[in-house]
Amino acid sequence: MKIPLLAATLIALSCLPVAAQRIDYSKLEIKTTDLGHGVYLLGWQGGDSLILVGDDGVLLVDTSVSPMGDKIRAAIARVSNKPIKLIINTHAHADHFGANESLAKGGAGIVAHDKLRERMAKGFTAFNQAIPPSSPAALPTVTYADAMTLHFSGETVQLFHPLNAHTDSDTLVHFKRANVIHASGTIGGDGGYPFFDMGSGGSLAGMIVAENKMLSLVDDKTRIVADEGDPASTETLKASRDMLVTLRARVQKLIAEGKSEDEVVAAKPTKDFDARWVHPGNFVTGDAMTRLAYQSLKGTP
Ligand SMILES: [Zn+2]
Repeated sequence: MKIPLLAATLIALSCLPVAAQRIDYSKLEIKTTDLGHGVYLLGWQGGDSLILVGDDGVLLVDTSVSPMGDKIRAAIARVSNKPIKLIINTHAHADHFGANESLAKGGAGIVAHDKLRERMAKGFTAFNQAIPPSSPAALPTVTYADAMTLHFSGETVQLFHPLNAHTDSDTLVHFKRANVIHASGTIGGDGGYPFFDMGSGGSLAGMIVAENKMLSLVDDKTRIVADEGDPASTETLKASRDMLVTLRARVQKLIAEGKSEDEVVAAKPTKDFDARWVHPGNFVTGDAMTRLAYQSLKGTP
């Protein structure tokens, strides 16, 4: 039981394509949290969005799933009467770009990594669900390869692409003045184990690189936005990076000893981490995390 085990438990994952989710979106409420300097977190226990409210417009990070578009628009209207000017999509999971078309209708530009546009234009499969090609109106209008800096209403917004981390299309979004980072799924939601989607080009090594990149940008007061839940602290980000580095070393050692995947799982290399990183309702258990690590290190997802 490798991928089937994970697939069966993926239902609780926020980063699932719409079709795989059994969620009644009409019942979801968006919780708006003021993070200061015009930045707000729009949380709905999925691919949470961030907005930056400027004098003449709004910058929106991630548009959620299509059925949430009107709620995102209403949540923005509660803090600003200005139009959405710019949209950033962090990665190719459908809860991060699903409402692009409706939210960009007023003329907003859409910024994303090259790979994200490529995947959206062609259509792709994530978590065994086919995502059809996006309509031209939903596609990013500006793409980049490694890094990009945007200047928006006095804020400097830096975009960084970590290679093969949560997916192969991730964008870390750093709001310098507000001291907020959108992690593009590279840290765990609600303080749980982080997840990487190997079927979409994610990897354990890339997650560590992404977390190290974020650690190079932070101070003690930085808020790091995961896909859901309250923003993580710098302490949590550091602990997550340390946990991933230790787990990689442990699993690597077991692989070098010739252990099979099931034997590595039986060795419980996450035993001392589970109390902190396993959360009720989160599909990434210690054993699931071990399987992800093993498969990523062996290159055999
Ligand atoms: Zn995701």
